[in-house]
Amino acid sequence: MNMKRTARYGTNILGGFGIDGVEQIQIIKETGFDAFFTGWNRKDRGAVIRYAEAAAKAGLFYETVHAPFGKMNSMWVDGLEGDDWRDMLIECADDTAAAGVGIMVTHVTVASTAPPPSEIGYRRFLEVAEHAAKIGVKIALENLEIPEHLAYLFERLGSMDNIAFCWDTGHNLCYTPEIDMMELYGDRLICLHINDNNGISIPGVITWHDDSHFLPFDGRVDWVGVAGRLDKAGWDGILTQEVNRGKEGCEKIPAYSEMSYREFLAESLERLHRLNSLRAE
Ligand SMILES: [Zn+2]
Repeated sequence: MNMKRTARYGTNILGGFGIDGVEQIQIIKETGFDAFFTGWNRKDRGAVIRYAEAAAKAGLFYETVHAPFGKMNSMWVDGLEGDDWRDMLIECADDTAAAGVGIMVTHVTVASTAPPPSEIGYRRFLEVAEHAAKIGVKIALENLEIPEHLAYLFERLGSMDNIAFCWDTGHNLCYTPEIDMMELYGDRLICLHINDNNGISIPGVITWHDDSHFLPFDGRVDWVGVAGRLDKAGWDGILTQEVNRGKEGCEKIPAYSEMSYREFLAESLERLHRLNSLRAE
């Protein structure tokens, strides 16, 4: 294997195999990964601490914590629901710091329609970002269905040191194929969600059903283009995937269901090596 500039690899904790996250961490390490990320659950705030302990034991780097996104659109509307969601993001940032993790990834909207960018939304994200800055947590805003809110927040919060970008390669293809997100925000890139899909299935319709999170090279993402964009941004961070064995409501790849957890992980690492081999020296 011809090792290029980036030779560190990360993965999400995988659902669908019936294997507990803590148990997965040891196997992720044994497979040859360097890092991983997890979600966060307000009902089990100790989980990230257990993951951090397992990571320390395994010698694996706990790269990011992914905040929940179910009611993210409430952030843009005045009212208690949005206040509560902001408070939840602050709790998530607190737990990210407590787990010794430096980056919290967050969506800024959910689904293909959302209330328009607003002052209240800006102020709530500002409060989250200011709190996170105090406790040493960077906030990575991820590209989703709607580009406007992302642009709005980078416009208004972009001067803060702890506001950064998480590029999801699959979202870029099936949600905003006409926008080069790395051209816009590559200079702020701090982490990756590498995954593939077959793009927009019904022309003109933007839907999460197209967001399959396949392994790289199983869909239609332009991986040569991805490698080139990472090179152009001078990315020397971790190549981290966010993949799924079979996401409910999305197209599935039959071969995945034949694979064990270890086989699927090993295959995914091969794909990341392949992506890395497309990068310049
Ligand atoms: Zn993602």
